[in-house]
Amino acid sequence: PDRLRAAGGLKPGVARAVAAETGVAEAEVYGVGSFFHLLAEPDTPLRVCTGLSCQLAGADAVLARAKEAGLPVTACSCLAACDAAPAVLRERTVVPAVSLDEVDDAAGDWAALGAHREEPARYGHVGPARDPEQQAIDLLGPPDYSGAALAAVDAMGAEALIQALAASGLQGRGGAGFPAHVKWRSVCDQADPVRYVVLNADEGEPGTFKDREVLLRRPDRVVEGLAIAARVVGASDVYLYLRGAFEGPWRAVEEAIARFAGLLPDLRFHLHAGHGAYICGEETALLEALEGRRGMPRLKPPYPTERGLWGRPTLVHNVETIACVPAIVLRGGDWFRGLGATEPGSKLYCVSGHVRRPGVYELPLGVTLDALVEAAGGYLGTPRAFSPGGASSGLLPMTLRDVPLDYATLAGHGSMLGSAGVVVLNDAADLVAAVRAQLAFFEAESCGQCAPCRIGTRWLRDRLERWRAARAAGEDGVALLAPVPDVAWELEEGSICGLGVAAPLPLTSLMRHFPEEIAR
Ligand code: SF4
Repeated sequence: PDRLRAAGGLKPGVARAVAAETGVAEAEVYGVGSFFHLLAEPDTPLRVCTGLSCQLAGADAVLARAKEAGLPVTACSCLAACDAAPAVLRERTVVPAVSLDEVDDAAGDWAALGAHREEPARYGHVGPARDPEQQAIDLLGPPDYSGAALAAVDAMGAEALIQALAASGLQGRGGAGFPAHVKWRSVCDQADPVRYVVLNADEGEPGTFKDREVLLRRPDRVVEGLAIAARVVGASDVYLYLRGAFEGPWRAVEEAIARFAGLLPDLRFHLHAGHGAYICGEETALLEALEGRRGMPRLKPPYPTERGLWGRPTLVHNVETIACVPAIVLRGGDWFRGLGATEPGSKLYCVSGHVRRPGVYELPLGVTLDALVEAAGGYLGTPRAFSPGGASSGLLPMTLRDVPLDYATLAGHGSMLGSAGVVVLNDAADLVAAVRAQLAFFEAESCGQCAPCRIGTRWLRDRLERWRAARAAGEDGVALLAPVPDVAWELEEGSICGLGVAAPLPLTSLMRHFPEEIAR
């Protein structure tokens, strides 16, 4: 994939040239290249994010104006920059909050778009105020390269650390919420002496941009957490799978690795650029991509802790999860557990859409929407709906504004906390358009190996559009949506991974919580 990227994507003849150079069959080269958005077509210098928050901020108009102006532009589904919406990717740099005037000023020169700004390494709000007693990641704190947590692990031993993780109640922060200590224990229990640690930094859930801020602001926490994990599970190689568009975070991580190098003489770090595929956030799809194949989720079991990267026991963690580890080592599992409101720990919530200060906020896990938005400066307009965990979580009504935003409570409401990418929509937002965008996202990002997901995601988007067209023509059209619950059941039962399970939620949640949108 890296060679394809260097060649500018799958232009005619590129797959053949890469095949001749590498000895890999041309069909296989083409198969891998065509899977990833950043490789599947010749490089496009500008990509306008049309994720929900960018759409709410006018991304569609920016995209249309840029096309009218003849700029080399295409749409993309997520740039992990919802706090700077609408965002544009200019080569490997995110240009935040692009306006129509700015497109006009670029006057056909794509390189001029946002070029007058300094490179926006950090463009979001981070909060609330710094409180290291209450925040495990402590985004506003100064980086610490002393290696104190590493030294503490050497003193306490692997077993004591796993017990501390169990006491902490740390759950995977990438979306699944699986207990972290169970993974660590499972890798340690394998007979195979070759083990790997993998960092999942392929943040791609629309509404989510917290990993970007952790990598930029606290790369020390991430690298030290990875080093601790490698020591405990007995790994000599750590692989970091970073979003291809994460230029700034990439540099921050490289620098942090260099700063720790003297303390980690026997540990090898390997940085890998993702090439644009939402599904690679699923851990087994990520492992496939790391091995150089199409990023398609594997059947489980076996789980990665048993047979992961190149068939070896592998510990895979999300950025936020691993960044919690140093603080747990230094302050103890009970301290971390006590930080939560309804479930253990502090949590990074992303909030965007119709709020005054979109950003990343580290708050007790289980905070309510109202408390989160208060930290973010308040609502813009009258709130009508919110999505609590990115596109995968559907839409919820404001009657749930007081429920804890935690894993168990949201699951009880048929939604999910996921990666805690909270998007607020006010009463001026077009909910049907928002749902249509999310359905199109899942259709585009399905890897296609399960028939219910491959066909069902297309059917759901198509059916919503047909219903909307019928309504615009003055017809009732409600019968068009009657099969939706059955199709949703097919996806939930017949999908290998969470994408297929979550894909119907935008539409089923609209029908469940906003029946007036369907009936009118
Ligand atoms: Fe691929 Fe969808 Fe199946 Fe997941 S559910 S493996 S995305 S086809």
